[in-house]
Amino acid sequence: MIFGSKKKEAARTPCAACKCLRRKCDKNCTFAPYFPAQEPHKFAIVHKIYGASNVQKMLQEVEEEQRQDAVSSMVYEATARIRDPVYGCAGAIEILQQQVIGLQSKLAEAQAEAVQLTMRHNTVSFWNQQAQGAPIPSKTIQTQASPSYNMDIMMMMDPNNINNNNHYNPMW
Ligand SMILES: [Zn+2]
Repeated sequence: MIFGSKKKEAARTPCAACKCLRRKCDKNCTFAPYFPAQEPHKFAIVHKIYGASNVQKMLQEVEEEQRQDAVSSMVYEATARIRDPVYGCAGAIEILQQQVIGLQSKLAEAQAEAVQLTMRHNTVSFWNQQAQGAPIPSKTIQTQASPSYNMDIMMMMDPNNINNNNHYNPMW
């Protein structure tokens, strides 16, 4: 039995870390579950930035179920550090935050334009219908008895309702 398990252990393919460090990879290897032999670049990059012993320490400091996430984070941060030696992943976060701010600004502009276009469209429709002799729905507006397209137009023409999403219903 003992001989059999030893034989099995000897046949074990070393993980990427042990292969890189040229050491024996046994069944208690801390790196093996997270640095498989098929992905040598993962260990190479964290080893370059943090050093193997620091990576091992960091892995031992976190719970086992969090180690895969810790490794993903280290690989990501090490990659970012190589790409941007001064700011590392903070540089990537800064770029993404700037993109978010830019896109939010564009979205606000597009929403404002959509509201303006809807108001213009509804106003033109309203006056076209008046010109064609449609009955003036003044009673409906005054009594608010039943909702109609005219009610919607009146609400949209009221500046207090422009920013109210409950009343903003695009017509197309
Ligand atoms: Zn190993």
